[in-house]
Amino acid sequence: MTARPLAIRGGLVAFPSQGEVRPADLLVADGRIAAVLPPGASMPEDAERLDASDRLVMPGLVNAHTHSHLAIAKGISRSWTLELHLHNGPWTGGGQSLADRYLLAQASAAEMLLKGCTACYDLVLELPSPSPEGMFATASGYLDAGMRAVVAPMLADRTFWQAIPGLREALPADAQAQVDAIRLGGHDIALEACQRILAEWPHDRTRVRPGLAPTIPLHCSDDFWAGCRALADRYGAPMHTHLAESKIQALAGQARYGMSLTAHLDRLGILAPDVTAAHGIWLDAADLEILAKRGCSVAHNPSSNFRLGSGVADVPTMVSAGIRVGLGSDACSCSDHQNLFEVMRLACYLPRTASFDPEDWLTPRDIFEMATCGSARALGLQDVTGDIRRGLAADLVFLDLGTVNFTPLNDAIHQLVLAEEGRSITRVMVGGRTVVQDGRLLAIDYPALRARLNERAREIFAANAPRKASLSAIEPFVSHFCVGLAQGRIELAGSLPS
Ligand SMILES: [Zn+2]
Repeated sequence: MTARPLAIRGGLVAFPSQGEVRPADLLVADGRIAAVLPPGASMPEDAERLDASDRLVMPGLVNAHTHSHLAIAKGISRSWTLELHLHNGPWTGGGQSLADRYLLAQASAAEMLLKGCTACYDLVLELPSPSPEGMFATASGYLDAGMRAVVAPMLADRTFWQAIPGLREALPADAQAQVDAIRLGGHDIALEACQRILAEWPHDRTRVRPGLAPTIPLHCSDDFWAGCRALADRYGAPMHTHLAESKIQALAGQARYGMSLTAHLDRLGILAPDVTAAHGIWLDAADLEILAKRGCSVAHNPSSNFRLGSGVADVPTMVSAGIRVGLGSDACSCSDHQNLFEVMRLACYLPRTASFDPEDWLTPRDIFEMATCGSARALGLQDVTGDIRRGLAADLVFLDLGTVNFTPLNDAIHQLVLAEEGRSITRVMVGGRTVVQDGRLLAIDYPALRARLNERAREIFAANAPRKASLSAIEPFVSHFCVGLAQGRIELAGSLPS
């Protein structure tokens, strides 16, 4: 936060909510945008000056869906589906210490800030149960990096092998014993921890706020969902879940509940404007209508969906149904980068594979709005960040218009979405404070972070090697069952107790 006001002059400013780019000067005071002014307008005498000539100034991108605990797992998987990714979760994202929470939040923040992302929704897994200390440490990692975040503990009272009806029973007896030995802490313990996380949150909630992430509908019992909803209401915390991310989840939802996962959550009274549904690939028209009616957001994660072969989310139809859509990278284990520029490009191209009619596509302006305003809405921070207007935080990214990506300059938003990869960034500001300048992180000692991260990756994966070996041995059975289910060769029994 700057003590003196800051006058940003001479820039070309991109306004995502208006789909417009125009020359404008910005006055920043107390970390907020105090005024958006015509070029050359008078500024307070005492204002510090920042020359933005030959710069495109845009609001910081907002990552609507990521997982910092998996920042350690970049590049680790070869060809996993979502189900194999979840099966391997105990060794890719397990065995981490409290100190690792902070380290991995810093690692996530480092990559996102360098790539022009100033806020994120982080769903954090701690096994066997979430802890206040773990979530507070994650939040500190973001705060110290100078980044804004929602930090939500991932919650479940069923393991992956319990969640898919018939999966556990399809495994050999010794494999069943092995997966049965992987236990969660129980939902009473998790809800008690969440109550403390929300009640005792020690940080400024406009910078880093707590949320709740019942991770996957099938992984949470009805009672657990009700407990999460009650806590969210009591503390005004946003909620986030992975909804119908894979075909297997959609089929398993029908088998377990006799209805879609969305209808099931609606029946439980979970869906509301504070809920973000991640992925939403296997939704039908009735599901979209429910999500729209309840005012939910969707976090669209195209790079993860490609990497895991999960399918293609029908985002144009979501938008037509009136659903607010934000963009996310998802975890480094299933989308090895945290680059919203890459995500924007994929999100823009994807609908073009589904229709020959350009009227059905999403434009670069639609996509830019999603990666800023739409994602900020998913975080519940639409009154804090995600756009350039008076009163919002000065979360700003400055790009050099002299780079090859913007030369010649024809349409800055088209070139942002379709040509830029983050290399034109010269400065990133969060709340009026510069946290990246000329490719350097100002609030993070990157060489020290890198050394520690490499060291911890070696230590953690060495310690997790026995678990990796046992899960790898079971993997073919899990894959056979799940692929068979997706291909229709294996059918699930009818509805099970929920
Ligand atoms: Zn995720």
